[in-house]
Amino acid sequence: MFRSKYDIAIIGSGIGGSILATILAKEGLKIVVLEGNQHPKFAIGESMILESSEIFRQLAETYGIPEIAYYSSENFTPLVGSTHGVKRHFSYMYHRKDHEEDSNELMMANIPKEPYGHEMHIYRQDCDYFYCSLAIKYGADIHQNTNIIDLEIDDSNVEIKLVDGRTINSNYIVDASGFKSILANKYKLRSYDLETHSRAIFTHAVDIPSFHKVANSQKQYGIPYSLHEGTLHHVFEGGWLWVIPFDNHKESTNHLCSVGLLLDPRVFPERSELSAEEEFFEFIQRFPGIHKQLKNLKSVRVWTRTGRIQYSTKKVIGNRFCLLGHAACFIDPLFSKGLYLTLTSIQNLVPKLIKSKNDNNFETVRFQTYEDTVFRFVEANDKLISGAYKSFGDFRVWRKYIILWVLGAYLEYLKLVLLRFNAHYSGDMKDMSSGDSNLNLRLVGGGFDKFNKLEKEIYKILDSINFKDTFDIEKKSQSILNEFIKAEWIPFTIKRYFVENHLNSNQYNLAFLKNKGGIFGVSDYRNHFFGKLPSLWM
Ligand SMILES: Cc1cc2nc3c(=O)[nH]c(=O)nc-3n(C[C@H](O)[C@H](O)[C@H](O)COP(=O)(O)OP(=O)(O)OC[C@H]3O[C@@H](n4cnc5c(N)ncnc54)[C@H](O)[C@@H]3O)c2cc1C
Repeated sequence: MFRSKYDIAIIGSGIGGSILATILAKEGLKIVVLEGNQHPKFAIGESMILESSEIFRQLAETYGIPEIAYYSSENFTPLVGSTHGVKRHFSYMYHRKDHEEDSNELMMANIPKEPYGHEMHIYRQDCDYFYCSLAIKYGADIHQNTNIIDLEIDDSNVEIKLVDGRTINSNYIVDASGFKSILANKYKLRSYDLETHSRAIFTHAVDIPSFHKVANSQKQYGIPYSLHEGTLHHVFEGGWLWVIPFDNHKESTNHLCSVGLLLDPRVFPERSELSAEEEFFEFIQRFPGIHKQLKNLKSVRVWTRTGRIQYSTKKVIGNRFCLLGHAACFIDPLFSKGLYLTLTSIQNLVPKLIKSKNDNNFETVRFQTYEDTVFRFVEANDKLISGAYKSFGDFRVWRKYIILWVLGAYLEYLKLVLLRFNAHYSGDMKDMSSGDSNLNLRLVGGGFDKFNKLEKEIYKILDSINFKDTFDIEKKSQSILNEFIKAEWIPFTIKRYFVENHLNSNQYNLAFLKNKGGIFGVSDYRNHFFGKLPSLWM
């Protein structure tokens, strides 16, 4: 049964569509969600980052729905079940063709345990089912196995036509159907003018040992966490491979591990004469360090092999419709930023949808800052990731380039957390979550102008490297490092870590909090990030 008219229709009940539906239904809007499949179902996008978890917390607090934050930390395992893994670090092991890996070429970025707990490897079929049921609990009408054949949008109505002949009416429609986006296809919005080029082969599998079982021990590497306790990225010229275990803590009841290979198709075109599985196993033989970890894996589902996975859109918004983040665009999962865009999309859209409903005015112009935000995020992610693929050409470059990722992510997270603290201080969470109070955010760098300038310099140097000339590589990778070292605004306590491959302990140093040299920094950096905080915090 459908209502005669809904405020908002949402296509797709994945993590994005379901969370959006939950919040809007809780806020009193009449919501219908049309899902082509049925839960529980496989979904990809498993590795969490601090920025995504922070938006989970912001949404949960702003709208008074604590369950939204249940995937923001391993501390919630007792509430969401034991099928999810823990993520206590990001690690990157560099590989060369036909050579064993070099233990000095492992880098680990720790995820702080305090104050919220480590991140998670989300077993998406359970997570998406959870959020879908949450949306139903809060009053959204969710229809699974419901396929749309077409829709008509005019100045006063959206009419959705289903395969079985029924029609549904709403005032507005959000397309949360991911890369297959119905609206992007209908309005021919897809664009592929992006720098990054990669294709993927992935599955869920058993019999993937911890890397320590086939290589050095945790102690030999001198790292604070076992490699199995986080996301391990094997990196090489022309691509990379993820290992995301769900069986990596003592409460886990899930013996699966997610594994996925990303290849630049210009370097490694698809081997269509082979099955996806055959291509995967043949490919990993090039790298002894990867092969020894994955050679015995047994897939538990049909392998997925994609064409180029990047896509974008000419428009994110239009007459009575918009595309949610993942329907609008996707770059590559290298730095796990996908859910950050999805959740930011929700955070930005919700206040606009509520206001439009209350004013009975869904004019496209009201959603303009949402579109701008999505485009800023895509552009920054495309640059960051295509730069990473370039830097994979030589470890010396990759080692320096990765500082840009760490610094950009740290600043972004810092800004997000401080926005929430400021909102608490001013007593208006909804103001912060209008999405319009932080319009200078662009996925990385916390909206700080000096970071943006530094980033441009790094890209310039990277683009000038002649990867056939080892002297040029040596010189330019040093120049990249120098750019970071000479940036006077980066607090000393952070700079120290630029030259280490990992922290030696899992404790963040108290020196971080020192007034001089600590993370509070100086001058315009301090103003940008900490400026509005009450003196108590300083
Ligand atoms: C290979 C890969 C790896 C990734 N890894 C990460 C990661 O590690 N970390 C991270 O943060 N992000 C990652 N992402 C991104 C992440 O997957 C997305 O951000 C996230 O899944 C978006 O959620 P969503 O609900 O908007 O879309 P989806 O999860 O794609 O859900 C779309 C929903 O729409 C439904 N649907 C589709 N077509 C129709 C239709 N015609 N009618 C009705 N319903 C329909 C689908 O059944 C599904 O339920 C990855 C993406 C890819 C491609």
